[in-house]
Amino acid sequence: MVKICCIGAGYVGGPTMAVIALKCPSIEVAVVDISVSRISAWNSDQLPIYEPGLDEVVKQCRGKNLFFSTDIEKHVYEADIIFVSVNTPTKTQGLGAGKAPDLTYWESAARMIADVSKSNKIVVEKSTVPVKTAEAIEKILRHNSKGIKYQILSNPEFLAEGTAIQDLFNPDRVLIGGRETPEGQMAIQALKDVYAHWVPEDRIITTNLWSAELSKLAANAFLAQRISSVNALSALCEATGADVSQVSHAVGKDSRIGPKFLNASVGFGGSCFQKDILNLVYICECNGLPEVANYWKQVIKVNDYQKNRFVNRVVSSMFNTVSGKKIAILGFAFKKDTGDTRETPAIDVCKGLLGDKACLSIYDPQVTEDQIQRDLIMKKFDWDHPIHLQPMSPTAVKQVTVTWDVYEATKDAHGLCILTEWDEFKTLDYQRIFDNMQKPAFVFDGRSVVNVDKLREIGFIVYSIGKPLDS
Ligand code: NAD
Repeated sequence: MVKICCIGAGYVGGPTMAVIALKCPSIEVAVVDISVSRISAWNSDQLPIYEPGLDEVVKQCRGKNLFFSTDIEKHVYEADIIFVSVNTPTKTQGLGAGKAPDLTYWESAARMIADVSKSNKIVVEKSTVPVKTAEAIEKILRHNSKGIKYQILSNPEFLAEGTAIQDLFNPDRVLIGGRETPEGQMAIQALKDVYAHWVPEDRIITTNLWSAELSKLAANAFLAQRISSVNALSALCEATGADVSQVSHAVGKDSRIGPKFLNASVGFGGSCFQKDILNLVYICECNGLPEVANYWKQVIKVNDYQKNRFVNRVVSSMFNTVSGKKIAILGFAFKKDTGDTRETPAIDVCKGLLGDKACLSIYDPQVTEDQIQRDLIMKKFDWDHPIHLQPMSPTAVKQVTVTWDVYEATKDAHGLCILTEWDEFKTLDYQRIFDNMQKPAFVFDGRSVVNVDKLREIGFIVYSIGKPLDS
């Protein structure tokens, strides 16, 4: 029986390994992590992450050929194929701070693999890493090898949170990069054999190591660039009376462009887009390509601009002050169908409004009060000037309440801001919400969720990103 071990039981490691276990009953899969609480959650009925369809997959395989464990060394020792899916956050200090990814977790996983292994292994980069990371890992393993041979593969993950299980069941492509030596090709084949259990052969792409590593960064940079492009257009639409959804529709009909990822919004978030673009920027700078670095930097700058623009719109619409006014925040996760709040635009929007002394009442169906308080207190890193900005003061954080009832959140509010596109926000009883709000009652839709005309009929003053403004 082939044995797989995945180091890192997070948003990527957990779902990807659960799907491999489901699709490959002949393979034993162990997912290991240093976090005792995360592993015990994976072994309970309350999984550590919310992802549609994940519970069912885990329930079908857990205890049969899928195991979650903190006994990292045992499972690494036994494995034939080791996936490394640890976090690679942006460095906050030292060389490359604010841009380069922090590979501390990666390196410690690699050193542990070298310490524990007694047989040849295939080591798979699942985390998103800079180009040439495989070379660094090879060095660490080779210099600590004790006669053991390692083959390093790059197999970046393209799943999107909120649709992870669907994406894993039916991936657009699986990318495997490896060395062009006979041993490298054998390792690629071994990993292809795993995916071949359910992924059609023409969707499994093989490349050299560096192309695979760079493709992941490039894919995220392209996706984020599309969002920033449409968001930049949304500002122009508001200035000219064009409607960004009409423009997106017209533009997306061009088959060379396509309709996906053309929704204007308050900005992109999540743990990957900004981090991976910064990673790309750093690689460009290290390779003496400042103009290319500046090109990608602009994608993040537009994203920051969009979040600021939204805050300014809220404050200026509400007669230039939100001091002491209750504002309901509907949605805090970075997108629908996830409880993940890493780099969510809601953090910057809430901080901006708190900076103007608003009182916030926050509702999100999947995000806890602890998470929100932690996110709002957390320091923000300024990647252009690598110094820490001030965290929110404890007084400002007291201006925040969190509730599980959307009607409670909006009661007596002067305005409401929609920051996540949860489906339930489309069908709320907006008449009831209007009746219980202060007047004039404002809606600021950062995700194009509401029917603007209907809400205006009810009596709301509505701002929806990129759409003609209320007179
Ligand atoms: P995560 O923070 O949810 O999970 C990482 C896990 O690794 C944590 O549970 C942590 O405790 C564990 N870990 C760290 N060091 C360890 C060690 N030495 N031994 C054992 N466990 C260790 O991160 P994630 O969202 O799953 O992302 C993992 C990687 O995948 C990142 O590089 C990310 O960029 C990439 N990625 C993420 C997504 C996504 O949507 N989240 C998508 C594609 C790729």
